[in-house]
Amino acid sequence: MSLLKEFDPEIFEAIRLETERLEYKLELIASENMVSRTVLEAVGSVLTNKYAEGYPGRRYYGGCDFVDIAERLAIERAKKLFNCDHVNVQPHSGSQANMAVYMSVCKPGDTIMGMDLSHGGHLTHGSPVNFSGRLYNVVFYGVRKEDHRIDMDQVRDLARRHRPRLIVVGASAYPRIIDFKSFREIADEVDAYIMVDIAHIAGLVVADLHPSPVPYAEFVTTTTHKTLRGPRGGMVMCREGFSKAIDKTVFPGIQGGPLMHIIAAKAVAFKEALEPSFREYQKQIVSNARTLAEELIRRGYELISGGTDTHLLVVDLTKRDMTGKDAEEVLFRAGITVNKNTIPFETRSPFVTSGIRIGVPAVTTRGMKEEEMRLIAGFIDRALSNPEDEKTLSSIKAEVKELCKRFSFYM
Ligand SMILES: *Cc1c(COP(=O)(O)O)cnc(C)c1O
Repeated sequence: MSLLKEFDPEIFEAIRLETERLEYKLELIASENMVSRTVLEAVGSVLTNKYAEGYPGRRYYGGCDFVDIAERLAIERAKKLFNCDHVNVQPHSGSQANMAVYMSVCKPGDTIMGMDLSHGGHLTHGSPVNFSGRLYNVVFYGVRKEDHRIDMDQVRDLARRHRPRLIVVGASAYPRIIDFKSFREIADEVDAYIMVDIAHIAGLVVADLHPSPVPYAEFVTTTTHKTLRGPRGGMVMCREGFSKAIDKTVFPGIQGGPLMHIIAAKAVAFKEALEPSFREYQKQIVSNARTLAEELIRRGYELISGGTDTHLLVVDLTKRDMTGKDAEEVLFRAGITVNKNTIPFETRSPFVTSGIRIGVPAVTTRGMKEEEMRLIAGFIDRALSNPEDEKTLSSIKAEVKELCKRFSFYM
């Protein structure tokens, strides 16, 4: 009998319902994944009890010997995975990893460059509603209208004109390979630092399916919970010369005590990512995303940039006369979870949007392959073609559940 069920049946029930949702729905949110039982065990461990302000061997509290083991292993494994000089595994989230970099090299009012949110960038890359847009003078670059690839000519022009202190590279909804070398050349020309945020593609980078930014950037940040398939959290990698500045900014600059249970779970996830099977998993992700893209295109859907090189795709619904908000809602009723997403040169509000973003890391973790992607494309098309037809939507939902039962994960 579960202790939690006895003591707090309401929370127990919420967790049970969420487990059921994960089990019987198709999770196609590109930023999500499903962690292993081993990662989950570390997350749920007694390491959550420990205050460990500071760094291994240099803590402000006693009793840190054993959490030091965990943090040292996380650092050592992360360095091996990404081949970087220095890593800080303490950021509580991707946002805090980015904040740590900005605050290490920029003063409020300094100019930074980032990718426009509606072109695929992230809130923390300078959005006016985020600390990054409030503290810094932000210049946005975007993608070209004709092929939806990052417009490197625009990046170069803007960099020359505005002389940013830091150029932020990386995205949350960009389905193509990013050319880090060209960004480096531009940054060198205007004497700017580069931060590459690989939150979405970290797993692909580890598996060599996307070029690594480490040789080209002073700073590389990531989340640990997207394609990397670890616990929810962030980390910063940097060149040796910046290690002290980054460590001081993370603690005591912007955080207090590190989440030692999460850091231990990061170490477990990194160990998993060092295994050869992780590369196979990432290869399957890319192949699945490509198959899903081809199947949707075959059914008449328009994809931003015409396809994908990564784990995600962005569907442009403009010509189907459907908003992203409605598509998200219709798919939800069919047992499929995606998120509405702005498209480049968006004309609707971020609450409505003209697109949806679809990602395959979570369904790939469950073991689904190309054959299942063909089924999923069929489900998506049937649902979006029959948005008012409750009978069709509930029959898709039942088929989704049957499919999910064949790829059981937590139950
Ligand atoms: C998800 C994401 C983040 C932020 O991660 P949180 O852990 O949610 O703060 C940062 N940058 C990019 C590019 C992301 O996609």
